[in-house]
Amino acid sequence: MADLLHPATTEPHSLRYRLLQSGRALLSGIRRELALQIPGACLLCQQDSTGLVCDKCRETTVLRRVQRCPRCAVAMSAPAAVCGQCLRHPPAFDRSFTGFCYRAPADQLILALKFGHRTALAGWLGQQLFDAIPAHYWQDDAPDCLIPVPLSKQRLQQRGFNQALEIARPLSRLSGVELWPDAILRLRDTAPQASLPLRERRQNLQHAFGWRAEQGVLPAGRHIALVDDVMTSGMTLHEIATMLKLNGARRVSVLLAARTPSPGDAL
Ligand SMILES: [Zn+2]
Ligand SMILES: [Zn+2]
Repeated sequence: MADLLHPATTEPHSLRYRLLQSGRALLSGIRRELALQIPGACLLCQQDSTGLVCDKCRETTVLRRVQRCPRCAVAMSAPAAVCGQCLRHPPAFDRSFTGFCYRAPADQLILALKFGHRTALAGWLGQQLFDAIPAHYWQDDAPDCLIPVPLSKQRLQQRGFNQALEIARPLSRLSGVELWPDAILRLRDTAPQASLPLRERRQNLQHAFGWRAEQGVLPAGRHIALVDDVMTSGMTLHEIATMLKLNGARRVSVLLAARTPSPGDAL
């Protein structure tokens, strides 16, 4: 008969196992919060570190280079011209680069940025993204400008800053490419994409973005690089790129601090 007071801790569904796991998660969350406030500790492993992330964590998470789809930057398990998704539904953007995969534990870096420690962390994320982009992109295929994906007015008020803009700033400084922070505007507030069923997501974003023409510059004939913190389905970036192409943009690149792996991808 099973021992109800002492269920096997190795059984994943046992109450004790679940309590143990949630306790561990809580402790790790608390440690992470502390690490955010204590200088000299790695944000991912909480060990002593001179940088925000120690060399060991950086090597195993951020520097773990994998084969990526040139079009949408999703990790691919086998070399191919583009991933299956881009083959079936080519996005309106032409090229994508990313710093790292948006998965545990490195996803915590993006979450930490959004929780407010933006200055140092955005600089660090911008540097990782810059390091992940081959030098020839900036030499032979350089964009005319970097434009951060705009937040909705409501989200901007809640957060107080746009994380995409904070990542674009160091990227502009490192690459020497001009930053146009306000060139794209949200014409209306949209519902958060994650709150909607898949079929409604595209409709939610249609005609949601416009070009701020009063700046005196136009997208026509230009190579525009959009900057964002994370790309998941890519629908927002697809909609913005569609708007840019309709306005005559020659080429649209997408530069991302992190990219979600495709579902079920073990990479
Ligand atoms: Zn570490
Ligand atoms: Zn792709």
